[in-house]
Amino acid sequence: MTDKKINANRAPYAADPKQSKGRIFSEPAPTYRSEFQRDRDRIIHSTGFRRLEYKTQVFVNHEGDLYRTRLTHSLEVAQIARSISRTMLLDEDLTEAIALAHDIGHTPFGHAGQDALHACMKEYGGFEHNLQSLRILDILEQNYAEFDGLNLCFETREGILKHCSLKNATKLGDVGQRFIEKKQASLEAQLTNIADQIAYNNHDIDDGLRSGLINIEQMREMQLFSTQYDKVMWKYPDLTGNRRVHETIRRMIGEQVIDLVETSRAKIAEVNPQTIDDVRNHTEQLISFSDEMRNHNQELKKFLRENLYYHHKVYRMTRKAHQVIESLFDVFMKDLRLLPPRHLTLAREALVESGIIGQARVIADYVAGMTDRYATNEYIRLFDVKGSVF
Ligand code: MG
Repeated sequence: MTDKKINANRAPYAADPKQSKGRIFSEPAPTYRSEFQRDRDRIIHSTGFRRLEYKTQVFVNHEGDLYRTRLTHSLEVAQIARSISRTMLLDEDLTEAIALAHDIGHTPFGHAGQDALHACMKEYGGFEHNLQSLRILDILEQNYAEFDGLNLCFETREGILKHCSLKNATKLGDVGQRFIEKKQASLEAQLTNIADQIAYNNHDIDDGLRSGLINIEQMREMQLFSTQYDKVMWKYPDLTGNRRVHETIRRMIGEQVIDLVETSRAKIAEVNPQTIDDVRNHTEQLISFSDEMRNHNQELKKFLRENLYYHHKVYRMTRKAHQVIESLFDVFMKDLRLLPPRHLTLAREALVESGIIGQARVIADYVAGMTDRYATNEYIRLFDVKGSVF
């Protein structure tokens, strides 16, 4: 494809792989791919990405084969984000790279795991999954001869760092700068963040209904759901079960995507950015829902929080997750020799270099990198006297 043809499909304010702000270590340009395609490909081949398969979204992996995992969630986010990106003439490869990597820093056991690890790390700088995603991609992945991490482009790293405290922003160099200067990320990053919300709100309804922890009668109190549900039932009055739910949810996703594209297009037309820097320097995000859709989404999130995430059956698993994470972190902190050799070496080096804070960070990296089942097995190996130590 000629450059002219590529440009015809690209908005002037889209992220352009030829104008990238570059990688931490400079590398020759890829032969048959764009810089952002290369980033996407490196993410797919990373260890952290493969681990997403066995990490909890809401339901713990062993609770059922049909529920979302972090991996299927990331693929759904990528699908929604790419559709939006393409129709808005933005860079689809960058969008996909950000979407596939956006949850790579998550601990085992979903938010319960993150909360528990953050509490463990309170004295040592805390733990934040978003920051951990960047840490994995910049440092912890060790697969390449010439650099640590994946050496991704600035634009991909910028998109993955969705939020960040001012304290942490100052330590992060170029990608932290926008939080200090109160600027925006690229439109590809902005839309992927919202695609994440569209994906999880809708698939949590699906998983919630499938698990029986919430029911359709409750869901019909939500306007976003009931509008589409009524349309489905009017058109297909005999439809039952999963088909009825899926038909409703696919329409909900469609409605949210259309609202997002139309609202964002109108905002972009009004502000009329000419370059990606105009997007970054604008006072607010240009990708957004209409006020009405934002309110519907708030209502839905509140409902899911109260009825699904805090459902007593989900909450029991949350408690168990806390127990596993806290116990593992504490026992490794007390006795480093319990760590596998590679992590033991790293922990000892970190202790010499930066004291107990450094040691704690190595242990947090180890625990955060675990899948649900690896963490569960480590717990059994370390605390169940009848369990195997292997
Ligand atoms: Mg997510």
